Formats: sequence, C-alpha cells, structure tokens
Amino acid sequence: MSPLGHAGDVRALLCRHCGGTVEAPSVGGLTTCQYCETQQIAGRRETELLSLPPSTATTQIDPSAPPEQREAARLAALHEQLAAYDAASNPYAYANVPEACAYLLELSYDDPMLPPVMLQGFLGAVERCEAGGGRPEDQQAVYWTSSRLENLMIQRFDPLRARAVVETAMDAVSEPGFKYLLVCSLANQARVAGDHPATEAWLALCDPAPTNIDLDSERRASYGKLRLDQQRFREVLAIAGEHHDDIPHVPSMTAVFVGLRVASFEGLGRPAEADRELTSLLTMTSRDDQQAVRQIFKNNPQWSPCIKVWSRLKERGPLPHTQEDRF
Ligand SMILES: [Zn+2]
Repeated sequence: MSPLGHAGDVRALLCRHCGGTVEAPSVGGLTTCQYCETQQIAGRRETELLSLPPSTATTQIDPSAPPEQREAARLAALHEQLAAYDAASNPYAYANVPEACAYLLELSYDDPMLPPVMLQGFLGAVERCEAGGGRPEDQQAVYWTSSRLENLMIQRFDPLRARAVVETAMDAVSEPGFKYLLVCSLANQARVAGDHPATEAWLALCDPAPTNIDLDSERRASYGKLRLDQQRFREVLAIAGEHHDDIPHVPSMTAVFVGLRVASFEGLGRPAEADRELTSLLTMTSRDDQQAVRQIFKNNPQWSPCIKVWSRLKERGPLPHTQEDRF
C-alpha cells in the first residue's frame, strides 16, 4: 500500500482478519485485503459537522443570548465539570480501563509482544462492538484500545497503520463523543505529517462549542499544536489561555497546555511569562514526571522553545518540584 495523503479521496482501514492495512474509497464500499483476500465493507469518510453528546452540565446556556454570554456560560459549565472530574468513571478518560481490556495492561510498553497482542485486543473489541449493536462498554473498549494501539504504531514509526487504526475505530463507534475524539486524533496525525489543510479539514468537523470538557480539551490541544506549528503564537494563547486557570482542561493535558503557552510566550519574545508558566508546571510535577514531560518536549521540534526555557531556569538554580506523581 502506497503512502496515502490525509486529505485525499482514500481511507486507510485495518483488515479485520489479518490486521493488514486496506485502502478504501472515501465513499466506502466493498474492499479486499491485498494480504489475505478477506473482503469487508468500509464505511464512508465523515464529511459533516459531528453531533455532540448530550450535555450533562447544570449550567444552562441560553441559545438566544449574545455570543459572548453563551461562551461565558459554556466556560462556566466546563469549570463545573473540571471541579467534579473523575477520570475513573469517565468513558473518554484513558485512566478508565474497560474491564474487557484489563489484561492488555499486563504487558509492559516496550514488550515486543505488545503490538500484536494489542492489535488482537483492538480487533476483538471492534468485533464485539459490531456484533453487540454498539453497547456503551464495547464502544469504550474500541476507543480505549484504538488510542493505545495508535500510540504504539506512532512510536514504532508506522503512521499508516496508526491512521488505519483510528479510521477503523471511527467505523465501529456511533457515540458522538468518541467520534469527536477520534477525528481530533486524525487531525493530529495529519498535522504531524505536515498536511495542514487536512488537519484543518478534520478539525472543521468538530463542533467549536462542546459542553464536555474532554472534547473541548482535545479540540483546543489539536488546534493549539497546529497554530504553534504555524507560529501563530497569539492564536495559540487565545486557545490555551495565558494563565493556568484561564481555560478549564482535563488534568491529563496540563503539560500540553503549559507547553503551548511557554513556546508561544518565548516565540513572542515574552521570556518572563514563558519562565513563569514553566515554573508553574514544574512546581506541580514530581521529578519522575518532569523527566517524562521533558522527553515529550524533546521528541517534538515544535516544543523546542520549552527546552530552551527549561535550561534558562536551571541556570538560575535548583528547579522546583513536588513529591507526588500526577501524570
Ligand atoms: Zn487481511
């Protein structure tokens, strides 16, 4: 299979039988695996604005209010969700491991058996989901295994298969929140491939005003990284906020939001604010987690200003940290 453009007419899917990558037209239809000749039906590529999951916020948004008031009410609803955030019971949270997938955590991340075992776990989840008519726990298992398998494929430099995993998950789930998060993943993959028009096209499918904090955080992070790649620093700051508390976001994304701010302040020639934001991140991060965050910053060229700021702070003396692992 040749490398596929992200914005083209072609979809990348996984063969449900052998796990090979299968090419399908964007309108969907019958496909044949070139490795094992299994035939399967591909869904149509999403092209319209995705619907949102029902709001659980108690803060009401009056649809007839002026736009600024509606946005203020939406942010209030997101702050309210953040105050009561419980990753363990949240279907979108990575920390909430579906019961059927618990065995997949027994292998360590660098175990060579993990990719094939995770692939089987993902294909099994897709099969259960489709056979069972899309029960909520099965959709969550598809989403959870797709995220983990996608990360594995990206780390192993197999972007085509990473994309096929996410597009296959898109076909299997119907719950709007999962679809929204999966489209953000496809946008991120297109951005990493340098295809900014395709990134914009995917993100344009995501409703800009979700009242769910997981969805809002994911969309902001995806747009923020795109604008950072484009060096549109002021827009990044509008997306991620200038201070930690400006924009509510899920706790697991704190490092991403701080990274966006630090790199943008540095890019705008505002080093004091870059120092302030990185210091605030270090202050709430343990030494072990700081190493993990530093590695993330190091692995991505767009975060290189964060490493520069990190070194600047280090030259001034010992870095702050907490005892508690949070990330
Ligand atoms: Zn096959």
